[in-house]
Amino acid sequence: MTLEIQNLHVEVEGKEILHGVTITFEKGKIHALMGPNGSGKSTLANTIMGNPNYKVTSGKIIFNGEDITNLGADLRSKAGLFLSFQYPAAIPGLKISTFLREAVNARREKPLNVVEFHSMLKETMAALNMDPSFSRRYLNDGFSGGEKKRAEILQLMLLKPTLALLDETDSGLDVDAIKKVAEGINQVHHANDMGIVVITHYNRFLEYIQPDKVSIISNGMIIKTGGKELADTIEHEGFGGMIDGHERATH
Ligand code: ADP
Ligand code: MG
Repeated sequence: MTLEIQNLHVEVEGKEILHGVTITFEKGKIHALMGPNGSGKSTLANTIMGNPNYKVTSGKIIFNGEDITNLGADLRSKAGLFLSFQYPAAIPGLKISTFLREAVNARREKPLNVVEFHSMLKETMAALNMDPSFSRRYLNDGFSGGEKKRAEILQLMLLKPTLALLDETDSGLDVDAIKKVAEGINQVHHANDMGIVVITHYNRFLEYIQPDKVSIISNGMIIKTGGKELADTIEHEGFGGMIDGHERATH
């Protein structure tokens, strides 16, 4: 599996936000996408997922050799792409277990019945050390930041996408919650050989999730790709030097 983004230009409400992004994400790899606030990280993730508010004006998105640039979001999800939201919505009245069963069944030819689904859910939650009562709560309703993120990891574990984009999964979490969520991500990664794109602007998260690759996005362009050491450089020097150097080089 590869997801290839080729020279992607994207507009939001008439304004160009991505100015030619080229990047490849691969199966079984953890790829960290880092960049300052407003650099276009969420825009890229939403565009990959097919959010209709993000308009591709040129460039291509190729998934497993197939051009998906104009495919609807539901078909991208069925093809194996997954996006976790930076700010997931709460849905009072919708139980997590019901939500997850519908999400899983939407992607299956033969739907699982309630009993089949519950045994799968129970097993998965046990593997993630989650309390079974969690699945009876309403989706994200009154959840702490950490609980919202763990609900997403559970969703990942059940849906088993080929490529998961995790947008700022660490934002607003304390260190203990970050460790727990990172543990969950490592677990789904190993269990399913999933490709994972970890979008973050902190290096701290990457201490618990070892990225195979790190790319830096700034002002709607990928300015650098390297290994884990790139995240360490940002930890010590911030984005500033890297971005200034790039701007001098390109202007
Ligand atoms: P990041 O996730 O890296 O912080 P975003 O992709 O959210 O950055 O935003 C990049 C730029 O696009 C910002 O200048 C932001 O204001 C703008 N932008 C993103 N989404 C919207 C939107 N829905 N409407 C208007 N502007 C947007
Ligand atoms: Mg964002």
